[in-house]
Amino acid sequence: MVATPTPPEVALLPNGSPRRYVYVQTFGCQMNVNDTDRIFQVLEPFNYRPTDDPAQASLILLNTCSVRDKAEQKMLSQLGRLAPLKDYNDDLILGVAGCVAQQEGERLLKKVPHLDLVFGPDHIADLPGLVERARAKERVSETRFTKRKEFAFIEAAPREETRISEFVTIMKGCDKVCSFCIVPFTRGREVSKPADAVVREVERLVAAGAREVTLLGQNVNSYGKDLQGDRIPTFAQLLREVDAVAGLERLRFTTSHPMDCIDELVGCFGELRTLCEFFHLPVQSGNDRILREMRRFYTAAEYREKVAALRRQSPQIALSTDIIVGYPGETDAEFEDTLTLLADVRYDSIFAFKYSPRPGTRAAELPDSVPEAVKRERLARVLALQDAVTRTRMEAYVGQTVEVLVEGPSRMASKGQTTRWQLMGRTRTNVIVNFPVPLGEFWSDRWIGSLATVNVEQAKSNSLYGTLA
Ligand code: SF4
Repeated sequence: MVATPTPPEVALLPNGSPRRYVYVQTFGCQMNVNDTDRIFQVLEPFNYRPTDDPAQASLILLNTCSVRDKAEQKMLSQLGRLAPLKDYNDDLILGVAGCVAQQEGERLLKKVPHLDLVFGPDHIADLPGLVERARAKERVSETRFTKRKEFAFIEAAPREETRISEFVTIMKGCDKVCSFCIVPFTRGREVSKPADAVVREVERLVAAGAREVTLLGQNVNSYGKDLQGDRIPTFAQLLREVDAVAGLERLRFTTSHPMDCIDELVGCFGELRTLCEFFHLPVQSGNDRILREMRRFYTAAEYREKVAALRRQSPQIALSTDIIVGYPGETDAEFEDTLTLLADVRYDSIFAFKYSPRPGTRAAELPDSVPEAVKRERLARVLALQDAVTRTRMEAYVGQTVEVLVEGPSRMASKGQTTRWQLMGRTRTNVIVNFPVPLGEFWSDRWIGSLATVNVEQAKSNSLYGTLA
């Protein structure tokens, strides 16, 4: 329940226009986190400032995800909790953005009577106008996809506090047809941001203090296929251009489809100075029939060959993946193939989920035939296997010296250490490392965003501990 004793004051700026606050709660993936940044960016010239307190806000947006069933349910219950705020605050506009908004549109307005505004990811740039319509008491739903040729990306502007690690969207949408996935229905067709705009954005973020950039898209390695004109770089060529940005220390990207993981891209690892040794390569299943049913268009053997090529090119590379258990019709033997693949590849980390049908997808037309208890048991076996592998891989860091990009104080810092305070950062392989510095140095600015060399002394399940080399 959100406590709301009094409605927030709407302060007037010197020019007489009201200053309002916007509260955004973000569900789901990094694309949504990045969209939330763009929401703040487009509202800023209209005198909206971000707030962490929904009771202070004149505009509340839930930026939603529909990839998993639970995220949608969480969003609906959060809308219920926020409803009483409208009784206290006549000025409050309540809206839903993101993939659930795109999928449900008008239906969401009908389902939730206190909702004022629903808009899809293609309409973030239109948000100030949509909010004004909602303030004029219209219940607004805007979910049309913008045509490929007309879609314009919002280039990220550096904020007052630019993060050490920033995201840059390089494309939106997905042209693949994976049978279980709702993304093509909620994010539309692939549209690539022109390479010059990507490089410009990275340069601006680096000039403002970012040291690491993650290039974002649903399927980044099909980047450029929709571009037209004289300059149509491949994804690997784009990586080379971004790698050349002066002052950038680290470059990452996500997410990729194994089919588009071609030799040219593999060749970038170990060759580009900034490109980190980390690759998230979703496999989904280790069984060929299930992969065919999922319309993934590769076999388990082809996938294994991509992994082998990556490891030949970059022996240190850390790999992560996505796994779905209990896809319609998945037999025990087919599930065992997934376990075998996990045991053979030995990922550094995985994201594993029980299959749940998403409305409108091809898989949702199939009977959801694997009983819930079986899905639960399969998920538990996958996680138990991966836990053991992750532990071994983490322990292998002990005794090594690693380069850490320092992000800030570690959570340990607040737990009463008085003489040696902990900072945290990540290795190039994306593992969190905590290390102490003397109290006097802890407060000095020189650490944040710097590259520290750390001797790893201890491994826990999710992070490493060490001392400065
Ligand atoms: S490639 Fe990824 S985003 Fe695209 S349809 Fe398949 S799972 Fe969804």
